[in-house]
Amino acid sequence: MNKTVVTTEEPVFVPEHKFADFDINLHLKKNIEGRGYELPTPIQDKAIPHALLGQDVVGLAETGTGKTAAFLIPLIDKVMKQKGDRVLIMAPTRELAVQIEKELAGFAKGLGFRGMVAVGGANIGPQISQLRHEPAFVIGTPGRLKDLMERRALDLSGFSTVVLDEADRMLDMGFIDDMRMILAKMNKERHTLFFSATMSKEIERLIGEFLSSPVVISVKTRDTSKNIDQDVVRIPRGKDKFDVLVELLQNRDFSRVLVFGRTKFGVEKLAKALSRLHIHAESIHGNKTHSNRIRALEAFKAGKVSVLVATDVAARGLDIPAVSHVINFDLPSTYEDYVHRIGRTGRASLKGRALTFVQER
Ligand code: AMP
Repeated sequence: MNKTVVTTEEPVFVPEHKFADFDINLHLKKNIEGRGYELPTPIQDKAIPHALLGQDVVGLAETGTGKTAAFLIPLIDKVMKQKGDRVLIMAPTRELAVQIEKELAGFAKGLGFRGMVAVGGANIGPQISQLRHEPAFVIGTPGRLKDLMERRALDLSGFSTVVLDEADRMLDMGFIDDMRMILAKMNKERHTLFFSATMSKEIERLIGEFLSSPVVISVKTRDTSKNIDQDVVRIPRGKDKFDVLVELLQNRDFSRVLVFGRTKFGVEKLAKALSRLHIHAESIHGNKTHSNRIRALEAFKAGKVSVLVATDVAARGLDIPAVSHVINFDLPSTYEDYVHRIGRTGRASLKGRALTFVQER
């Protein structure tokens, strides 16, 4: 496997706008400043002016580029200007939906509207009650949104704006029919913002189907592999890869380690086995309840546990800062999954390491 240790300095990006230049609600501007955002990131710099004009936007950008604020800022402003307007945000995973809601809560402080998360794996009852208050922002996964619509708890007729976040992931995860069904229930005159990390024939087709005359913005994705030292760990015949993992984790510089396993069951078993050896590990996978997944993620982010064991699906799109190592305990099933996995380390200008276990036969 390719072993890259060279780091190239990226040219410094000079934004065309400052947040102060945008014609947006002053209180919102204060909140942006309060969050410590000084200058727009490239996707924000390019997408916000168009979204503010009500144009459909396609943003080709991955997690870590600031894409969430690129759609939240103009849409919060829209909701402030056009009282009663509501925004639907679709995301592939529960964790991403929660992350978006958190960012929304930060920007919306004191603005007097609410947002809610509508995702599977969490009790539907409280979500139905929250919807009765007609929150301005509903952020959900397609399956649960559809469920809420079928129960007549969610009526999309008041929503004129929709965001499809990580549309390529939603497609991969088989949500396409739900997405179509949900969009069909919205006003034809809707304002649509579409984000995807990758462009493919299928994504192009969806853009043609869902958006009208969109502005397409592509930000150069950070070439993460330049900051990642990639290596294969060969496990000799007769040796158990669990033992090799335990040996590695004794090492001090394995300070924040994301371990990938193939199955939900395997991931759970691995985290438990590590914890029994007093290597405190948490797990995230689809069999865990939503709140347990969030708890595990927060413990890892806060440094309370140094190891997080995850499946590909559960870890998708998560913004986890400063992961020192990604370990492919089980091989990823596609190259794309490999790239996604190792992209969890080497964020921004930090150096990361990715180790892939290969059992010799
Ligand atoms: P995202 O790509 O939306 O997941 O954002 C990645 C991270 O960058 C998040 O932790 C954001 O809070 C942060 N971020 C987004 N925009 C800015 C900005 N203009 N300045 C500083 N940090 C930002």
